Amino acid sequence: MRIAVVGGGIMGCAAALELRDQGLDVVLLERAVPGAEASSAAAGMLGAQLEGHGPGPLMDLFLRARAGYAAWARSLTERTNIDVGYRASGILKIARTEGEHGDLARTVAWQREMGLDVALLGPRDAREIEPGITTDVLGAAHFADDAQVEPQRLLRALIAATAASGVEIRSGETVHRVLVESGRCVGVGLDTGELRADATVLAAGSWSSLVPGIPSSMPAVRPARGQMVQLEERPPRLRSIVVSSSAYIVPRGDGRVVCGSTLEFVGFRREVTAAGVHAILAGALDAVPSLGAAELGPVWSSFRPHSASDAPLMGRSTLPGLFLATGHHRNGILLAKVTAEVVRAAILEGH
Ligand SMILES: Cc1cc2nc3c(=O)[nH]c(=O)nc-3n(C[C@H](O)[C@H](O)[C@H](O)COP(=O)(O)OP(=O)(O)OC[C@H]3O[C@@H](n4cnc5c(N)ncnc54)[C@H](O)[C@@H]3O)c2cc1C
Repeated sequence: MRIAVVGGGIMGCAAALELRDQGLDVVLLERAVPGAEASSAAAGMLGAQLEGHGPGPLMDLFLRARAGYAAWARSLTERTNIDVGYRASGILKIARTEGEHGDLARTVAWQREMGLDVALLGPRDAREIEPGITTDVLGAAHFADDAQVEPQRLLRALIAATAASGVEIRSGETVHRVLVESGRCVGVGLDTGELRADATVLAAGSWSSLVPGIPSSMPAVRPARGQMVQLEERPPRLRSIVVSSSAYIVPRGDGRVVCGSTLEFVGFRREVTAAGVHAILAGALDAVPSLGAAELGPVWSSFRPHSASDAPLMGRSTLPGLFLATGHHRNGILLAKVTAEVVRAAILEGH
């Protein structure tokens, strides 16, 4: 059985590896360089509890994804010798207004009811976990089981494992259309001709809706720009991820601190803007004032694939033969492996 995968970000690579591990013949088509877009730009928070908005299927998916992450990270490291930076660093979400505190208390209540490990802390206990946070804090929720990974390392490992598994990776190969014959997707159209496939996986991130031939019923995916700023803290002080209403701060443990982010619907404009950097730094320094002494490192931006349905698009599409692994917006790093499993089950088991 031959599979064509469109897009070489985390979704395309994870799906390709998963399918190749089942013995399938997989070709991955990446118009530029695998891993060079959103997937390497992410902060790498595995924020199942941070991102959850209430009990339901999406929360269950987040939790399942987080539960399997350490094993996935380990297996990628074993296959490639590349450390992917997985750390169970926990996430501390701080509240600075009564309104934010009320929201956190409600989150803690429904997560406790689900049996999750979560604590609502007063200012002193919050500062015990992370002494660097502002003194001007009313309380914090601590999601001890949320974790992080380093996306650039993860993508290096994933691409290396995918190539070593025998997936044929074609870089610089743009998919110009999905081929449809008698109401079925039968492969893709390329510069070099056609590639016929028994199943095609659409994993083109923010560009997914631009591929001609996809079903019109698919919710539109559009880019949500996110800007990032890296700081260097010497010596390293922060341990946990700290999140406020205006910024998140992700310490890598070695002095690098990744701060984000903006969420902007500005099409495919890649600029890192003065206003974006200003907002990120103001939010980060408000939450952790000592970061004011950190050295400014690189800045970057990329595009989260936001789906009009406000949920990831995974598994079978309405076009037989075409499967989806896109629209993961803010949570694609967290959801990559679980999405690959859904795609595998859809292709091989039909559900
Ligand atoms: C600033 C920022 C911070 C983030 N932080 C987090 C986080 O902390 N935790 C988390 O879980 N998620 C986070 N995300 C979200 C996460 O990065 C994305 O959801 C995920 O990377 C999407 O992966 P993807 O493979 O779908 O897309 P991409 O990584 O964008 O890959 C899509 C690929 O498809 C290729 N392509 C497009 N069109 C074609 C075509 N026609 N033919 C061939 N190839 C094509 C592109 O070149 C690209 O390589 C963040 C995102 C951003 C931008």
